[in-house]
Amino acid sequence: MLLLVFACAHQIPEPAPRSLVEPAPPPGGLGVCWVEFATGTLQKGLAVAHGAAHTDVPSTLSGVVLSVGDRRFLVDGGARADLAAEFAGVKGLHRAFLEEAARPFTAVATPAEALRAAGVDPASLTGAIATHGHFDHLGGLLDLPGVPIHLPQAELDLATAAAQGGESPITPADGRDLLPRARAIPFEGGPVLAWTASHDLFGEGSVRLVSLAGHTPGSLGVWFHHPNGNEVLLVGDAVWVREGYEAREPKSWLAGTFGDSDQTGTDAQIAALWALHRDRPGLHIVPAHDRRAWEAAFGATGCSAAR
Ligand SMILES: [Zn+2]
Repeated sequence: MLLLVFACAHQIPEPAPRSLVEPAPPPGGLGVCWVEFATGTLQKGLAVAHGAAHTDVPSTLSGVVLSVGDRRFLVDGGARADLAAEFAGVKGLHRAFLEEAARPFTAVATPAEALRAAGVDPASLTGAIATHGHFDHLGGLLDLPGVPIHLPQAELDLATAAAQGGESPITPADGRDLLPRARAIPFEGGPVLAWTASHDLFGEGSVRLVSLAGHTPGSLGVWFHHPNGNEVLLVGDAVWVREGYEAREPKSWLAGTFGDSDQTGTDAQIAALWALHRDRPGLHIVPAHDRRAWEAAFGATGCSAAR
């Protein structure tokens, strides 16, 4: 299998040069918590195509609580506690891929448990955001009753398709349960870093959401400054491990074929992240499942500053 994966791997061209748009300095006062739902191991041959990751990579299903005053959002929630219910109605190779994607992870805490362990009352959440609609990011948010879930309209369209039984990277159960409490994220803001439009989450410049369309049409990046001084960009599954943007490596054939909605779009985002990493080496680009990147950006699980 690995030989096949290697043989099918392609190269990602260098992106056309473009100038980075500097975000306005954040006002300060952002509270940040790293909450972890599951740990596991990501196989090096699955994460990137050409083997730049030389060993298996410690992996995670994690979320981030971002707080300004008494407004509080959870970004990503891991998978649902009841995976069988989450995967109901998914068949064939797609079902096999989802089960394979879930297999390496061991649950650490439900979202509610992880939030409470960090000192955050789940009932205090203003809302939740999924970096995209896949089960291992959206599912756990659906286990938090009544919390509004914010996603770009492109991702909500996939949820509608899933709920109606159509082809979708969102599971039918997740689509059905998301829609009644879904909120569309607009991209009303100006360009940020390498992206042309953004959403200012709190309206005061401390958290900017950008579209990373490719892995799924409504995939998001989340930019902010951690109270520890690190500038952070959460990139969901635009890349699976940091070697993707360090070495400009595509994902493996298997991951790209079954995991990405648009491989050309995904490659373009990887190229943009590679250029951003080259031009802004101090920025912590955090792939959702690369635990090494989480540790580098956040230090340890738990909260920093006001929550
Ligand atoms: Zn994922």
